[in-house]
Amino acid sequence: MNNIVAIVGRPNVGKSTFFNRLIQRREAIVDSVSGVTRDRNYGKSEWNGKEFSVIDTGGYIKGSDDIFEGEIRRQVELAIDEADVIIFVVDVEEGITPMDEEVAKLLRKVTKPILLAVNKVDNAMREKDAYEFYNLGLGEYYTIAGMSGSGTGELLDALADILPEPEEKQEEEALPRFAVVGRPNAGKSSFINALIGEDRYIVTDIAGTTRDAIDTKYNRFGFEFNLVDTAGIRRKAKVKEDLEFYSVMRSVRAIEHSDICILMIDATRGFEGQDQSIFWLAEKNRKGVVILVNKWDLVEKDTMSTRDYENRIREELQPFSDVPILFVSALTKQRLLKALETSVHVFENRKQRIATSKLNDLMLPIIENYPPPALKGKYVKIKFCMQLPTPTPQFVFFCNLPQYVKEPYKRYIENKLRENFDFSGVPIDIYFRQK
Ligand code: GDP
Ligand code: GDP
Repeated sequence: MNNIVAIVGRPNVGKSTFFNRLIQRREAIVDSVSGVTRDRNYGKSEWNGKEFSVIDTGGYIKGSDDIFEGEIRRQVELAIDEADVIIFVVDVEEGITPMDEEVAKLLRKVTKPILLAVNKVDNAMREKDAYEFYNLGLGEYYTIAGMSGSGTGELLDALADILPEPEEKQEEEALPRFAVVGRPNAGKSSFINALIGEDRYIVTDIAGTTRDAIDTKYNRFGFEFNLVDTAGIRRKAKVKEDLEFYSVMRSVRAIEHSDICILMIDATRGFEGQDQSIFWLAEKNRKGVVILVNKWDLVEKDTMSTRDYENRIREELQPFSDVPILFVSALTKQRLLKALETSVHVFENRKQRIATSKLNDLMLPIIENYPPPALKGKYVKIKFCMQLPTPTPQFVFFCNLPQYVKEPYKRYIENKLRENFDFSGVPIDIYFRQK
């Protein structure tokens, strides 16, 4: 289930307001995972049992007044390429603008489902004003008020109708997928070429469709997996602009389909905004992560030690800093096999199941020694814990007053789990429940 819904439209029509409404609803439902959410433009949502990822394309375009028309055009073209459904937002207060017409012209050519949302319809009067949007030639529209949420239910019903039924779980049999991600020029192709250059390890080469990444079935260390090359996707891009949006949006699908994300960064540039967005995208999707600092051959070792470099990256990863960071060179092939081996290791960490008795024997004394702080004179008593049978590690702690357990204590429990078990590179979820 990897449906991608892109929200497009010119600035100030209310895209981010609508986006936040979609995402917050979801975060409330899933009891908010412990990680912080740093990407304001990407999130997961669900409606009527259909899950989807939402991308607010507008969030990546800076400046609202003198915005280049070209940027909007590229934003829409990319959404057309990468998304499964497009929600085109317009503003009833402003009516149809030339830029709306531009966007509509692009969208009319597309066979993908488009939902036209006429926003800021705050009252019944404005319902009538919305008629003019038929002139965009996109057919039926939905009137919404992103701010109050009115009308959004009908829009989401329509969206859920379009999205395919959830697939049966076949993932069990599928090979593990390691996606090599990172911004353009980080060295992803070089890394993959260096590995598959030794082609005796390749099992088969499956050419993906034009839109999907290229998979290479690979066998090493007695372990079979698919190496997913996202670098190939870039070659379709017509323009060379440096918008964060492009590499992130193009990574979304590959990341969602993967088990492990091998995030490559360019040592000469550091761990920058785009790298960080991709990292949080992987974390948010609960994927295993390995960071490769590539082009290490180019770094003067006396100006910068690996330790300093590593510490600087780890600062940015807080609170999910328990992630392997390796210094590699795709050019000189330094530590490439180590990188693969580490990825396999993270894959195994992510899959591990800790026996309930072992977990309780370890964690209950730790909790007894340092229980959650009392709140309003009430004491939280944690009686029992277990790991859930989920694809990524999730732990539930049963207690009398789960609502009294706050974030710092969850963090404490997570750290203790990480100290005692190897969850390196793997996001963990911790829940407190009443029993
Ligand atoms: P974006 O640039 O398309 O992401 O637009 P924003 O979400 O930032 O919204 C632009 C402005 O429109 C903000 O001042 C919002 O408060 C306002 N806005 C958004 N939704 C509504 C709505 O349903 N009704 C009204 N009246 N204003 C809205
Ligand atoms: P991609 O866009 O992430 O697939 O990056 P490429 O693999 O195409 O690499 C971009 C550029 O960086 C190319 O010129 C590579 O030769 C160069 N490059 C990649 N890895 C290394 C490395 O480890 N060391 C050095 N010095 N250059 C590298």
